[in-house]
Amino acid sequence: MSRVILPGAMVNGQPATLGVMGGGQLGRMFVHAAQAMGYFTAVLDLDTASPAGRVSHHHIQTDYLDQQGLAQLMQRCAAITTEFENVPAPALTTLGAHRPVAPSAEAVAIAQDRAAEKAHFVRCGVPVAPHAVIETAAQLDAVSDDLLPGILKTARMGYDGKGQIRVSTRAALLDAWAQLKNVPCVLEKMLPLQAECSVIVARAAGGQMVHFPVQLNLHREGILAVTSVYDGALPAPLAEQAVAATRAIAEGLGYVGVLCVEFFVLQDGQLVVNEMAPRPHNSGHYTLDACDQSQFDLQVRTLTGLPLTPPRQHSPAIMLNLLGDLWREGQSPAWDRVLALPGAHLHLYGKLSARPGRKMGHLTLTGDSVAAVRATALQAAAVLGIDAF
Ligand code: ATP
Ligand code: MG
Repeated sequence: MSRVILPGAMVNGQPATLGVMGGGQLGRMFVHAAQAMGYFTAVLDLDTASPAGRVSHHHIQTDYLDQQGLAQLMQRCAAITTEFENVPAPALTTLGAHRPVAPSAEAVAIAQDRAAEKAHFVRCGVPVAPHAVIETAAQLDAVSDDLLPGILKTARMGYDGKGQIRVSTRAALLDAWAQLKNVPCVLEKMLPLQAECSVIVARAAGGQMVHFPVQLNLHREGILAVTSVYDGALPAPLAEQAVAATRAIAEGLGYVGVLCVEFFVLQDGQLVVNEMAPRPHNSGHYTLDACDQSQFDLQVRTLTGLPLTPPRQHSPAIMLNLLGDLWREGQSPAWDRVLALPGAHLHLYGKLSARPGRKMGHLTLTGDSVAAVRATALQAAAVLGIDAF
């Protein structure tokens, strides 16, 4: 990761091209940022209609472990990143043997596994929820009653609250593990939450690190619904603690790229780390419209070895996630009414079918004061049929 890949340069006789594993909305926004700087892009995703594949110069339509697909991606690209944390780590290892890959297969492998991830947080001195790793029936039997009521989460492949079952008794726990097909799991104690927040950092190969302001996140049914980012959204000491913890976690991984760490704020004010995502994050989408550099711009810079400068938020912001539920009877929401609001920035990901819970896009509201942004965000929510917050 030492050579700089300059935008617009020729690399091995081809225009400098950046690759991304995964074709979802995060890949699409990475592609937009890379193209704005003059890079060519390549996306590897099996789905012919993937949001990122549709906007990329090249779209390699194979699965993540297809050797021909990976070879084609390497042939096209000067460097490769990922937008999806469940890309098999061996695919990144293969790519990493021949091209700069950020984040590394090792970092992604840790983030893919809740047990390994928690062990890493503990090593970095960041408090985690009381939990037990459950891989065998004996481990299940040995679980302490102190962890109940709790949430049983599959160690791998969970997202948006999928692969999680809330349990309050031992009988329910046994039942839940069977429902999850007895795969390796983590049982976490249910904690009394006051709030949830996240921090996004970008770290360069040389160790330089920059961060965005702390994001206050509201989840509904296990899915991010609203992110608010402005001075005073969280008490300053708590925000500083979250930033310091995130930096320690990135440092401890020798991380290169954009990393998001999610936290719980407990009712007693204690900060507990929940999980990390080795990529840009839904809670950082406001950076596109409210900051002088977005999380995707920083992903491009970390991947290409360009300098990192601290991003600056220039406007208070509230982001509303636009889930498929808002498309009532297949009808698009009234975007014309939403866009009549000052400071409304609409992002749709080009997904043609709206299913409940599917992330179709997001709407960011910016303005010159917190009060103005809150007022327009609530108006937008009312127009869209999103519950007030
Ligand atoms: P994603 O990766 O999309 O953020 P996920 O499927 O990995 O989600 P988690 O982040 O583990 O799921 O949990 C989803 C939500 O459930 C959390 O944001 C929080 O609101 C709630 N939750 C999870 N674990 C706990 C806990 N131990 N105590 C209380 N609430 C919890
Ligand atoms: Mg989460």
